Amino acid sequence: MPNPSMTPLAIDPPKAGEMVALADDLYWMRFTLPFRLNHINLYAFDTKDGWLLLDCGIQSQAIADQWQVMLAGPLAGQPVIGIIVSHYHADHVGYAGALAAITGAPIYMGAIEHAQASWSLAQSDATYGMIMGNTYARFGLDGDVIGHVRSQGNYFRKLSGDLPDVTVIDTDHRFHSKAGIWTPRFDTGHSPGHMSLSDHDRKLHICVDFLLPRISPNISVSLRSIEIDMLGHYYSYLDQMRHLTNDWLIIPGHDWPYFGGGVRAVDLIEHHNKRLDLLRGAAANGPITTAAAMHVLFTFNLTDHELFFASCEARAHLNHLVALNEMQIQTEDGIEYFYLG
Ligand SMILES: [Zn+2]
Repeated sequence: MPNPSMTPLAIDPPKAGEMVALADDLYWMRFTLPFRLNHINLYAFDTKDGWLLLDCGIQSQAIADQWQVMLAGPLAGQPVIGIIVSHYHADHVGYAGALAAITGAPIYMGAIEHAQASWSLAQSDATYGMIMGNTYARFGLDGDVIGHVRSQGNYFRKLSGDLPDVTVIDTDHRFHSKAGIWTPRFDTGHSPGHMSLSDHDRKLHICVDFLLPRISPNISVSLRSIEIDMLGHYYSYLDQMRHLTNDWLIIPGHDWPYFGGGVRAVDLIEHHNKRLDLLRGAAANGPITTAAAMHVLFTFNLTDHELFFASCEARAHLNHLVALNEMQIQTEDGIEYFYLG
């Protein structure tokens, strides 16, 4: 149940092939995705030179078809002048290269997400499968799961196309829409250098995947660096967002825009605090692996796609307990065990 002080914006989500105005110069589109999280919100800024788009969907025929409908319909009439990619997750970056090829528009990304996407795209099937398999082995997952991911190759490339030249931007960059100025911020947590955008004058915060209204954003270690304390960074972000006043409209990458970002930030802090407590409880009976922690945190059946995010999220929570000096790691037969002390 959403907290009662969170108020969804009183507006219906856009239907297929349509977009809905959230401000004079900001439009909301919704594309379908073939996952449990079955859609993504994409945005279009109306600028004096044309459309500036935010995020792209995965690389798939279904997403290509949805873009074709939008470009020939609501977005027709003026050029696409830029494509902003908030972060390297395939549902946001996957179709960016194809969309840039169709529109001729440049892609804008933060440096960390660009490096992460480039690294993920650059791994051969053999290398990616090996890294996944080795990571799952360290997590203590079952041998058949490890064998399966080793043979799966580069899963990221199945959902994401090549990225052409990307214009890397930092916090000094400003995007100008017809009625506002958008300032990017970059945070670590849900991904290593995720971009969100704010128009401070109009109190609009496009949080993308960092302050989702319904589900808790996945807080995962990445394959490149499974030791990083991603949850600690995410707590820092949430601690800042706690102070958002209720007149800010929060505009997310999934589900619906809402007021009450500060309330939501407090909810999410409590959510993760509870999950840390669950792991403290589980480890009270003896050392636990990342796989065991995953089964404590996620009690439903996981698809292959979900197993990846669930195990990496469990690891992020264990890493945070290590960062707090509450847990230590011991490796035995290539499997990492976390114990209290
Ligand atoms: Zn994401």
